Amino acid sequence: MHIHILGVNGFIGHALARRILEETEWTLSGIDLTSDRLTPLLGHPRFEFRQGDIHRERPWIDQQIARSDIVFPLVAIAQPRRYVLEPIRVFELVFEENLRIVRMCLHHDTRVIFPSTSEVYGMCADETFNEETSPMVFGPTSKERWIYASAKQMLDRIIWAYRTEGLRFTIFRPFNWIGPNQDDTRNDEPGSSRVVTQFLGHLLRREPVPLVEGGQQSRSFTYISDGIDALMRIAENPDGAADNRIFNIGNPDNVCTIAELADHMGRIVSGYPGYEDLMTGLALQPVSAGVFYGPGYQDVSRRRPDIAALTAALGWRPRVGIQEALECTIGHYMKDRALARTEYTAGP
Ligand code: UDP
Repeated sequence: MHIHILGVNGFIGHALARRILEETEWTLSGIDLTSDRLTPLLGHPRFEFRQGDIHRERPWIDQQIARSDIVFPLVAIAQPRRYVLEPIRVFELVFEENLRIVRMCLHHDTRVIFPSTSEVYGMCADETFNEETSPMVFGPTSKERWIYASAKQMLDRIIWAYRTEGLRFTIFRPFNWIGPNQDDTRNDEPGSSRVVTQFLGHLLRREPVPLVEGGQQSRSFTYISDGIDALMRIAENPDGAADNRIFNIGNPDNVCTIAELADHMGRIVSGYPGYEDLMTGLALQPVSAGVFYGPGYQDVSRRRPDIAALTAALGWRPRVGIQEALECTIGHYMKDRALARTEYTAGP
């Protein structure tokens, strides 16, 4: 098989690329603006990487889609603050560019494995979010943060509708995947990265940890290796079990509130030399969503996946619990940090 990944240097993209090259005989091509996460893979004989902007590389992308068995269009803007600050840019990239890619897949009869998002369920009141039964609940138009979820939801509906014209697809919805190489802990701008990397940066610099709206909202955190296992099974697609399906990919057992997450993470970091006293000085700082992300933000109070569909179709179940997921993620960043100690402003 030949696989093409758009956004191959991203958090999911690079982990998927690595798994494909390490565990299969498949050939792989990919494009991204940057390549920092791909350093160990560049030069691999089965990997062709192109550094560039997907807006400008359409002819090359079209060729890649024509030659591929599967395309993963993973290009997205996954920073909540940018949904509010740059809504049009989010729409152009997330919606318009991806729609072009989906149409190219239809044209070349190439299977597409498309990343929707757990955000499409929005402020759904269900205990667990189910692909077939849960309503999708967004705030008013003036709450601009919903532009990302709306764009992804509309793409899901378009892909679903293209089924009638012969598009072969699987839509997946990641629920708060975490792991090594997610975001840069040195980026301290509020809302600029996802919560685990953001909190780790604050803990390492001994800064107060901001808890949006007090941190009582909950999430189900999913370790990246479990997410990649699911994507590999979807790609392998035994007996067409993933064809034209929508699957949540998350760990329903790893639920915790954001305040609990800060506490868990603080305890793990305090196990590292130089941070033994971290918990005594740990300050948790409640902040309103409007102040933290900017006006137009609305938070999701809980988000837990129903994964029965993926378990039944492909026998997939997540294996990594929350403690291990956080320990592995933090361990990775601490190792990196030891290598680049001088770049940090605080700590030992
Ligand atoms: N959050 C927080 N403080 C931070 C960063 C995030 O309280 O410094 C909260 C955020 O408001 C959300 C949750 O943590 O409720 C998870 O945020 P993330 O951006 O990782 O992903 P989301 O689940 O919102 O897509």
